Amino acid sequence: MAARRGLLIILSSPSGAGKSSLARAIREWDPTIQFSVSATTRPAREGEADGREYHFRSHDEFNAMVKNGEMLEYATVFENLYGTPISPVEAAISAGKDVLFDIDWQGGQQIRDSELGMDAVSVFLLPPSIEELQNRLQKRAQDDDETIKRRMQKSSAEISHWAEYDYVLVNNDFDATLGQLCAILTAERQRRTRQLGLSELVRDLNTEFEARAAK
Ligand code: 5GP
Repeated sequence: MAARRGLLIILSSPSGAGKSSLARAIREWDPTIQFSVSATTRPAREGEADGREYHFRSHDEFNAMVKNGEMLEYATVFENLYGTPISPVEAAISAGKDVLFDIDWQGGQQIRDSELGMDAVSVFLLPPSIEELQNRLQKRAQDDDETIKRRMQKSSAEISHWAEYDYVLVNNDFDATLGQLCAILTAERQRRTRQLGLSELVRDLNTEFEARAAK
């Protein structure tokens, strides 16, 4: 039996706040953390591989997954469908592995409201300023000007959901933010309710006390 149930780590932020870099770094800190690979109907960008960044699916394929109950959550983001396949998540957490989700506020809400909500810890990442957000989006150079403009508009809607999250980190300094996220995970893993076998341990400790007292 695993020593504890795995955590569902929900990481949300507006595009350009540094979420992907943070997600990569947290997995370097603990390579046992599993990254949830979402399904999406958006076309693959250069350098992205099917099954690695996303499972790239047609609308029909995506809708069939929803209909068959294969999605933990799904939502429309930037006119495309995005969703989290449930079976890898269930397998990971029952094996005591933590799963990281790079999903938007709609997905965060649905996971918190799901049966797995008690295993979730949610973190919202804020940029220090809107100027910084725009700089990071432009530097990324993956998207054209029109896409960047739309992403900036969507950012304000995403940020409006900050108060629904357990933790909020302001990404002023990447290393400091990473340190804060590691501290959150270390603490959340030690929650009494997440540790299995504690009652048995305490029972054994008491038996030992009694044995010593009887000597
Ligand atoms: P991108 O197209 O830039 O990879 O992702 C666009 C947005 O979709 C990001 O904010 C990302 O967090 C969100 N997203 C990615 N996968 C999922 C998912 O499975 N569910 C939800 N709700 N949002 C997702």
